[in-house]
Amino acid sequence: MIIFITIGIGNQSSQAISDSLEENFNIQVNTPVPIPTKDELHHYNISVYYEPSTHSTTGWTNISFLNKEAIILSNLMLHLWGNDVESDSIIIHNIYNETNSLLNYVISSSNKLNITTEPILQNQRYIIYINFTVNLPNIPSRFGYSDETYLTQAFGNWYPILALREDGGWNLNPYANGGESFYSEMSYIDIKITSDNSEVIVGAGDLQEVTINGNEYTYYYTAGPVRDFTWMASPDYLVYSELYNGVNISSYYYPEHSERGISVVDVSKKSLDLFSEIFEPYPYNSMSVGEIDAWFGGMEYNQLVMINDIYYNESERGYDRFEDVISHEWAHTWNTYLTGNNPYLDPWLDESWAMYASSLYFEEYYNNDYYIGRLQFIKQDYLDFASGSNTDKPLSSGMDYWDFNQGTYEVVYAKGMVVIDMLRYVMGDIAFFEAIIDYYDSFSYTTASTDDFIEIFSNHTEEDITWFFDQFLYDTIILDYEITSATMYKNDSSNNWDITLGILNYHNSDSPPIMKVPISIQSNNNFYFDVIIDETFNEIHVSVPQSLGKPTFAYLDSDWQVLRKQRTIQLVITETDTPGVITSSSLSTSITSSIETPTTPTTSLTIIFILFGIGVLVLRRRKGNLQ
Ligand SMILES: [Zn+2]
Repeated sequence: MIIFITIGIGNQSSQAISDSLEENFNIQVNTPVPIPTKDELHHYNISVYYEPSTHSTTGWTNISFLNKEAIILSNLMLHLWGNDVESDSIIIHNIYNETNSLLNYVISSSNKLNITTEPILQNQRYIIYINFTVNLPNIPSRFGYSDETYLTQAFGNWYPILALREDGGWNLNPYANGGESFYSEMSYIDIKITSDNSEVIVGAGDLQEVTINGNEYTYYYTAGPVRDFTWMASPDYLVYSELYNGVNISSYYYPEHSERGISVVDVSKKSLDLFSEIFEPYPYNSMSVGEIDAWFGGMEYNQLVMINDIYYNESERGYDRFEDVISHEWAHTWNTYLTGNNPYLDPWLDESWAMYASSLYFEEYYNNDYYIGRLQFIKQDYLDFASGSNTDKPLSSGMDYWDFNQGTYEVVYAKGMVVIDMLRYVMGDIAFFEAIIDYYDSFSYTTASTDDFIEIFSNHTEEDITWFFDQFLYDTIILDYEITSATMYKNDSSNNWDITLGILNYHNSDSPPIMKVPISIQSNNNFYFDVIIDETFNEIHVSVPQSLGKPTFAYLDSDWQVLRKQRTIQLVITETDTPGVITSSSLSTSITSSIETPTTPTTSLTIIFILFGIGVLVLRRRKGNLQ
């Protein structure tokens, strides 16, 4: 392929990162999506008593199920997720219908509750009452309690919850221990939790009132539309709250962690500001962040997130990593809750996007060196994984693979974030952020699939970028380029320097990968331009006005923008007496479409190492800390 490009002064710095994200949003006002009413959604009315001495909760849930489909249903399917953490954690005592008749039910070995009902017609509600007990396992997790340092009890995915209706059936995702498979519909929830006054209760909704009866406190919360209701309890929690832009942000933390415990609210305010602007305005009145002793870094729920206590310890984690995990969990509000996705089938839609949201956080609030360094560091995490003896899998793979194999962090989190960053580069900032607004407008309060995502983002580009998704979502391609030659001819008739660059596009497949790649030319001024590299050998002709100085170096992807191996990225441009010394025909004779990739880089990695060094200084490895 031969590309002719003429550079003028106006074309400089086409790849510069915008200094201010807000500038991108002047193009379109991000208005809230209408909130579904109670008439349109299921309702839960839950009342439980919590006994701290046995870590058990007993009570009932009243579910008003709404059949939204043009079919007659004869059963309801619910998940008992807690039983996947430890068997018999959730015990069903009995189930009644609205007329107080007992309903038959079966609990399958996969912990799905199948309730036989009377026929439920379209647009008809069916009401059930479930009496149940929850015995928290002694596991430091999202569903369990830990008494290692401070007693903390976490009720994530703790009550019988309706499976989601999809494509005329019930979605019955199995449980995923190393990630999420929780896939539920938006609902309205009223809940009362009663316990003795020794416990500080943290609920995921809006606290309406606390009633006191002797030494028993009853907390009454309302929430909706939400996909779940989660709560935590500890006798040791301290709390710090601020009302910020109409949102009550509360941090619950252990007594020795007051400094970070209070700082949680600062990070939350920044996250709320940024993500409300980029994705959708935050629609809730409250958000709580609870400290927890757990095996994971953080865990997201609707209106409540859990953060590992290690992040509250200044000697264990730097402040940037503290901000990283909190902004990540905040971002899940928009990525899997407001805009739902099936996290078992498409984990990248929530985890890659939460990772990228943190990247936007650092772009907005940190300096450019840190932001770029973080991107480079995470990119290297994936490349180390993929170049080792590990099995790489496409980003579109589901938890049925990741829950049993290595690579969840390196692919779903790290590579996923890099792929989204590359998508932004390929689309350009304006189209990318317009597509984001369109995507979250289109799927707030419902669910989106990978196909939905591709359709929306493709609609915002004039060019067909199917190749991008094919390569980076559905394949494991890692790009690999080299500048093989760089010459220039002083063209006095046009007063230009006519530069000819030869670029090799290494690959082991029948068809060479396609990618937009930034090229820069150094002289007294620096010139940037982007090219689509889509052949095995690419010859690029660039004309630079002589008035802008004599070119010296040519760089390929000097900021390591694309997901590629490290290799020669710069070359001295040598002057020749004749134009067009390099032609595609002369070199194509010695190059086949399938080139064996050399195993070691050649020379000149200076720029990459400088940028990467920044990342090494300020970031440490995140492996083992899935969020
Ligand atoms: Zn996450």
